[in-house]
Amino acid sequence: MDKSAQNLVNRSKTLVITGSSRGIGRATALLAAERGFNLCINYHTNKMAAQNVLEEVLEFGVHAVTAQADVSVEAEVKRLFETVDTELGELTHLVNNAGTLVPARRVDEMDAERLVKVFQTNVVSSFLCAREAIKRMSTRYGGQGGAIVNVSSAASRTGSAGVYVDYAASKGALDTFTYGLAQEVAQEGIRVNAVRPGFIDTEIHELSELPGRAEQVAKTVPMRRNGTAEEVATAILWLLSDEASYTSGAWLDVAGAR
Ligand code: NAP
Repeated sequence: MDKSAQNLVNRSKTLVITGSSRGIGRATALLAAERGFNLCINYHTNKMAAQNVLEEVLEFGVHAVTAQADVSVEAEVKRLFETVDTELGELTHLVNNAGTLVPARRVDEMDAERLVKVFQTNVVSSFLCAREAIKRMSTRYGGQGGAIVNVSSAASRTGSAGVYVDYAASKGALDTFTYGLAQEVAQEGIRVNAVRPGFIDTEIHELSELPGRAEQVAKTVPMRRNGTAEEVATAILWLLSDEASYTSGAWLDVAGAR
């Protein structure tokens, strides 16, 4: 059976991946399409990159759309999920992947504007998207259940002292959110988990304004290398899948033993 015919069998899985124009989100979109998920490819500013991902995933014979939305803004999140309702049908899965990093600073150099941006983009967005997903997936609202994966970070454990404790703390909030929400919706057919990647080679690190950081960090990782977006995508897809049917409220570290 060719890829397209195989995926006709699995048309009922519909996944929103926030921030899937690049990096981990893009790799997750490609693997999800290969496994038969219909997809909403959300992006913030990079329309061309999102369009390229769309073209790649359509080759797997799934339904897919791109949707621009700043997921830290409530009205835009509502619009994003309404697009899914209209264009793709019943939502079954969500990956809260969109996130941002900030220039390296000590805590005594951080202002409120920076802190609000980090927590709005990395934490508030995930609450808002989960809210919209639950309203569609929960058996409490007549949905068929589903799964949510939050993209946290190993930083939630390490603390990122001297560079971005605010980013690390925002991922700590995501860990707690994951565990709390998993319990809240456990009887409504929804599993909620997180992946905690270590240092993954993507463009996000340009935002830290720390040249050479990738090489420095790699030396401290027990495996002596950084990870790839594809290695994180594999973990996300397992947590989304029925193979993880008794896994909920879990944090899966994908960090080379760090
Ligand atoms: P990336 O390559 O910089 O990609 C970020 C993606 O998020 C892009 O698609 C971007 O869209 C989107 N995005 C950013 N802000 C957004 C917003 N407000 N609304 C909607 N989309 C937004 O980043 P990445 O490395 O793949 O990181 C993805 C996630 O993994 C983040 O949550 C990050 O914290 C987490 N993580 C990354 C690492 C790592 O080492 N790379 C490690 C641990 C955790 P545009 O293309 O339109 O800008």
